[in-house]
Formats: sequence, C-alpha cells, structure tokens
Amino acid sequence: MKIDLLQVGAYAPAHQAQLDAEFSSHSLEAVEADPALAGRIRGLVTRSNVTLAADVLARLPQLEIVATFGVGYDGLPLAAAAARGIAVTNTPEVLNTAVAELCVGMLLGLMRRLPAADRFVRDGQWMNGTMALGTSLSGKRVGVVGLGRIGKDIARRLEPFGVSLAYHGRSDQHLAWRYEPDLVRLAQDSDVLIVAAPGGPATRKLIDRAVLDALGPQGVLVNIARGSLVDQAALIEALEQKTLGGAALDVFEQEPCADVRLAALENVLLAPHLGSATVETRQAMMDLVLDNLRCHFAGQALPTPVIMEG
Ligand code: NAP
Repeated sequence: MKIDLLQVGAYAPAHQAQLDAEFSSHSLEAVEADPALAGRIRGLVTRSNVTLAADVLARLPQLEIVATFGVGYDGLPLAAAAARGIAVTNTPEVLNTAVAELCVGMLLGLMRRLPAADRFVRDGQWMNGTMALGTSLSGKRVGVVGLGRIGKDIARRLEPFGVSLAYHGRSDQHLAWRYEPDLVRLAQDSDVLIVAAPGGPATRKLIDRAVLDALGPQGVLVNIARGSLVDQAALIEALEQKTLGGAALDVFEQEPCADVRLAALENVLLAPHLGSATVETRQAMMDLVLDNLRCHFAGQALPTPVIMEG
C-alpha cells in the first residue's frame, strides 16, 4: 500500500510521475470531500510559491511531514507544524547555481539592454541607426542583501567581473566581503543592489522608498528572492520618475504578475519567477523532495529539514 499524501500545487508531468510511482497523492478538493481520506494522509507535498493555510494542517490528524519543492518556506505554517511535531523539509543548495546564474544573466541583460537589443535587430531598427549605449558591470559596487547560500553563490560568480562587493544581513559573517549593518548605507554605497534574503513578515518591504532613493538614479535593483521584500508601488514610482536607474525582477508582490505600469517601463527586465527553472535543477529538487519523504517514512534522518529560527 502506498502512503497517502496531500498535494498542494502542481509539478511538471515527469516529476508528478516520479511522485506517483512511490506515493498516492491526492488533491486538496479530494481530501476535503472525504474525511476518511483526510484521516489517512501522512505527508503533504507542496511547492514554495504556494501559501498553505494552517487550517489545512488542522484537518489532517495523521500528518507527519510537509515537504516543499523549493528553498523558500515563507508560505508554510511553520509554527502550526512545530506545535504538532510535524517535520518540514525544503530543497536548499541544489538550486543555488540556477538562481545565481539567472541573477547574473538578468543583471547583465538589464545593463546591456539585451531585450531591447533583440527587438532592435528583429524589428529592423538596426537598418536605420545604432542603439543607445549600455552600462558596464566591471568596476561597479555591488551590494547583496541576504548573503546566504544563494547570495554567496551570486557574489562568487560576480567577483570575476571585477566588481567590489559588500553585503547586508542581520549579522557580520566575517568574510572577505565588507559587511554593512545599515541597509540604506549599503544602497548609498552601491551601484547594484541584489536582494537574496528570505521572504516572510521579518523582511516585508525591506527594500522601501528610503533604500530605493539611496540607490539613486544610476542605481540598479535585482530581486531574485521574493516580491514581498520590495515595496513594489514605491519601486514602480521610482522607476517611472527615474529616481532609480533600473530593476531586474524575477519575483513580484503578486504572482503571476501582469502589471501594466511595470510592462510600460524601458528600464526594467522582467522574468516569471524563473530562478530555479532549469531541467537539471528542477530534477534535483524533485529528487530531494522524494529523498526527504523516503527518509522520513523509513525512520531515518531527514536530508534537508527546515529548522525554525528563534
Ligand atoms: P539562506 O541560505 O537562508 O540565506 C538567506 C540570507 O538572508 C541569510 O544569509 C541571512 O543572513 C539573510 N537574512 C535573513 N533575514 C534577513 C533580514 N531580515 N535582513 C537581511 N538579511 C536577512 O537562503 P537561500 O537558500 O540563500 O535562499 C534565499 C531566498 O531566495 C529564499 O528564501 C527564497 O525566497 C529565494 N529564492 C528564490 C528563487 C527564485 O526562483 N527566484 C529560488 C530559490 C530561492 P543573516 O542571518 O546574517 O541575516
């Protein structure tokens, strides 16, 4: 008999097939409609762009583990899980490279205006003249907000471009890169500010008007973390008024995002939450979700448990 799981959020067909080969997964609708099934659910699988309400856990008396596909767990009811001794796992590390690659790619794409350049050639505008100049990354001052696994990977990948690096977080990690405890000060001292801290109440709108003003008209913001970290209304206003130079955004306050004001801006590069979206990385993430489930149900140590702070 396969173990019954509740699945909240969709997986790619190949990953769904992997899950279904080992477990019996059920939709929220099916579980809500059948109390006997709800009583058999021992695991919950989800993904990090899903917000899971605490009352979903309350309806699953036998729930032992919540396994999310992704590293962010700002959408999970961690306190409710901890209160019942329910294990929580995520998929850290295996996605660092993909997110860091996207971050560097988006930064270069924005500075060298690659989407506009592509349109310039496709639309035949090249026949009538040359494009406006872009900006070099070399020699720029880069600030990283949230120098964790992904932030460090980004910093290491940016070093060979000849940038100078500093970072902000809650603590000095005593690294070769300069620590700046004051976020506005870091923005003031940066040409490029990269957001790589976790989402959640503690970081909500961390990048506010004061930070954007400090980054200034030549400054560039890159957000590959969570939309909730940035005051998006203030960001759009700053971009429209050109008090901020530009922004490369992979994540948004509301997703999917179809903000017409953002879409109308020339000084932005937008992506639909693609950080970990490579074939190789998504496979590694699914493998890790399954490893966590297997280990849990075999009574073994979890490969990547989420440890609650505080
Ligand atoms: P991590 O290793 O936990 O790193 C997070 C870093 O943020 C830590 O170094 C922490 O340093 C810092 N931090 C925590 N709270 C902070 C605060 N209030 N202010 C400033 N810095 C703070 O996490 P990770 O694996 O690098 O992932 C980072 C985030 O990237 C995830 O939470 C996720 O939301 C996002 N992500 C996005 C995508 C995408 O598709 N775009 C993909 C994967 C991950 P201190 O403890 O010193 O403060």
